[in-house]
Amino acid sequence: MREDRIIPIRPTSAPLPTAPLLRPQGLAHGQVHSPAHATQALRDRLGRPLTDLRISVTDRCNFRCGYCMPRAVYGPGHRFLPQPDLLSFEEITRTARLFVSLGVTKLRITGGEPLMRRDLPELIRQLAALRTPDGERPELAMTTNGALLAPHAQALHDAGLQRVTVSLDALDPATFRAMSDSDIAVERVLEGIATAQAVGLAPVKVNMVVQKGLNDDQILPMVEHFRGTGIELRFIEFMDVGHTNGWNLDKVLPSQAVQDLIARHHPLRELPAERPEDTARRVALSDGSGTVGFVSSVTQAFCGDCSRLRLSTDGKLYTCLFASQGHDLRSLLRDATPDADILARLAALWGARSDRYSAQRHANTPSVASRVEMSYIGG
Ligand code: SAM
Ligand code: SF4
Ligand code: SF4
Repeated sequence: MREDRIIPIRPTSAPLPTAPLLRPQGLAHGQVHSPAHATQALRDRLGRPLTDLRISVTDRCNFRCGYCMPRAVYGPGHRFLPQPDLLSFEEITRTARLFVSLGVTKLRITGGEPLMRRDLPELIRQLAALRTPDGERPELAMTTNGALLAPHAQALHDAGLQRVTVSLDALDPATFRAMSDSDIAVERVLEGIATAQAVGLAPVKVNMVVQKGLNDDQILPMVEHFRGTGIELRFIEFMDVGHTNGWNLDKVLPSQAVQDLIARHHPLRELPAERPEDTARRVALSDGSGTVGFVSSVTQAFCGDCSRLRLSTDGKLYTCLFASQGHDLRSLLRDATPDADILARLAALWGARSDRYSAQRHANTPSVASRVEMSYIGG
């Protein structure tokens, strides 16, 4: 092994913080925390509510996108998490249930490639049975590279999955191959998208990470392909997440440049944000043929409304995509810790949160080498 080989970090984890049990009056030890009470209480130090839990179900993937899992790092020698380290479906569902009782209304399954996790529809079935304190179903979504979506879309929908976001960086076969660094044909992803729509997953969205000089010639073909289909195409700025993807600012094509390019071919109209915590700024093609979104975490940070918490495949909680340290939940789940104790710690974790990495990117940023990889923490 070369001395200078880049090794993705498995960050050290800290225990979940303890806090005085947030036990509403009259609630006995071991009884689940009053949801209504908790919903009001859960704000972080910057006043941001916790509404969105992203659940990574595997650190494995059938693609090797250079911006996420470069093959030079995630080659045959890479050691993925051993099976016993993964949270079981029951552990994930218990965690999600606790978070939903604390006010989370959106659950997103991600990875790695979530469809690499065996029996995923069974997890979806368990999560789909959860209810918010108001008796509503939490929104249940998945982000996938789409390669295995066609054969699984129906079962996922039947199990209760509502919506799906498919990552697709190019239509041109050679560019797609270069971006995904896999032998899987782009047609399989397109078939996955079509099947997702056909079985009733809605809305279907498509995410395209734009890297200057690599796939920016695909921006207009992607707009042409997806307008008129009801699918929203979202352009994602290449982010400096992790420390293995060779990021530098020169490789980022700012969203504004993408928008200007599209506007030269299609008049655009700005749309209001649907929800404050939405990551994408949206525009409509003025001819009514569709909408396009921009996720601009490099040039227009959206930390101010960030309401997302991430659960890694091995049960660590991350309060920011750029965190260098996770908080160990798995040991509590496997330790017969009562729900009320875990809830108090989850509330304490969120209450202590002050992350806003993207907003501070150019100032006091943490060491690049200590950042956790996106394929591990979940995108
Ligand atoms: N494998 C699935 C997929 O690709 O959709 C889910 C996991 S992936 C980590 C989630 C999202 O993160 C994808 O849309 C991917 O394009 C995006 N992503 C990964 N690395 C990124 C980076 N460095 N900059 C911007 N987006 C990135
Ligand atoms: Fe795999 Fe998704 Fe990362 Fe690409 S972005 S390597 S598909 S986890
Ligand atoms: Fe949220 Fe961290 Fe991303 Fe800011 S940098 S939007 S706090 S995940």
